[in-house]
Amino acid sequence: MNTVPEIGISSCLMGNSVRFDGGHKKNRLITDILVNHMDVQTVCPEVGIGLGVPRQTIRLQDIDGETRLVASKDSQQDYTDSMSEYANSVTQKYSQLDGFIFKKGSPTCGAFRVPVVVHKDGHRRHDGIGLFAKIFMEKFPWIPVEEEGRLNDSDLQQNFIERVYALHRWHAIPNPDENLTAFIEFHATHKLMLMARNHAEYRYLGRWVAETNYQNLKERRQGYIEHFMLVMRNNVTKGRHVNVLMHIMGYLKNKLSKADKVELLNSFESYRNSYLPLSAILLLLKHHLRKYPVPYINKQNYLEPFPQEITI
Ligand code: SF4
Repeated sequence: MNTVPEIGISSCLMGNSVRFDGGHKKNRLITDILVNHMDVQTVCPEVGIGLGVPRQTIRLQDIDGETRLVASKDSQQDYTDSMSEYANSVTQKYSQLDGFIFKKGSPTCGAFRVPVVVHKDGHRRHDGIGLFAKIFMEKFPWIPVEEEGRLNDSDLQQNFIERVYALHRWHAIPNPDENLTAFIEFHATHKLMLMARNHAEYRYLGRWVAETNYQNLKERRQGYIEHFMLVMRNNVTKGRHVNVLMHIMGYLKNKLSKADKVELLNSFESYRNSYLPLSAILLLLKHHLRKYPVPYINKQNYLEPFPQEITI
C-alpha cells in the first residue's frame, strides 16, 4: 500500500508532448504541487489506441442520436469502438487509484460539459463526456474525478484533495474484508466531514455502519464507500463549516475561559465574512484541543483533511 495517494492524470497535463499538435498542456498546480505529495499514473488514451503525434483532431459527434468519437474532418473515421475497447481493457488496473485529473474539454479525457457536435454546420451542445473519462467514471463512480480547469476554483480544489485523501485512508485499511474495527474507525474519524456536507446522509451512513457485522462486512463495505464518496462530492458552505466549528466548540465549552470563547466566536464570524481562512480557525481549535483533548474530536480528519504542506 502506498504511503501517499495515487492518482491518474491525463498525460498532457504532466507536460508530456502527446497532444494532436505535438504540444502539451502542462499544469503547474499538478506538476509543482500535487505530484510532490502523490504518486502519479499518466495515460494518453489517444496515443494508447495507436493515434500518432501529431495527429488529426477528433471530436464527439451526435450521429443518429448516438454520441460517437470521430475524426473532425471525416466522421466516417470512427474511433468509438477502439477507444471503448482500450478503456475497458486498461481501466481495471486503475481500480485502486485515489483520484483522477482529466484534461478539460477533450473528446477523450474531458469529464464535464465536453462539446458534442450535433449538426453539419458545427452547432454543438455542451453536455458530453470524453469517452475514456466516461468509461472510467462508469466503472469507478466512487473515485474522485476532476478537471485541471475546475481545479483553479479553490473550493473545488479543496474538495477534490479532501476526497482523494479520504479514499486513500480507505484503501490503506489492512485486510479490509475482515477488518470490522478499521471499518468502524474509518467512519468514526470522518463523521465531522460527513456532517459538514449533509446531516441526513451522515445519519444514514451511521446506520449503515451500525448494521454491519463480521458476517456481512465484505458485501456492505463497497456500498458504504460508494455512498460515502457520493456525499463527499458536496462542497461545504461557510455556514455549514460554522455549524461544525460550533459543534466542536461545544465539546470545549467547560474547559475554555470566557476570553477564549469570545475569541473563538469572533474568529468564526471572521471566517463567515471571509476575513479569515478556515485553516486559521482550525489551527486555533487544534491549539485548544491539544490543551484539552476530546478523543472523539481530536481524531476527526475534519481538523486536517490532508497534509498542511499542500499549500495551494
Ligand atoms: S487530453 Fe487525453 S487524449 Fe488528449 S492529449 Fe491529453 S491525455 Fe492525450
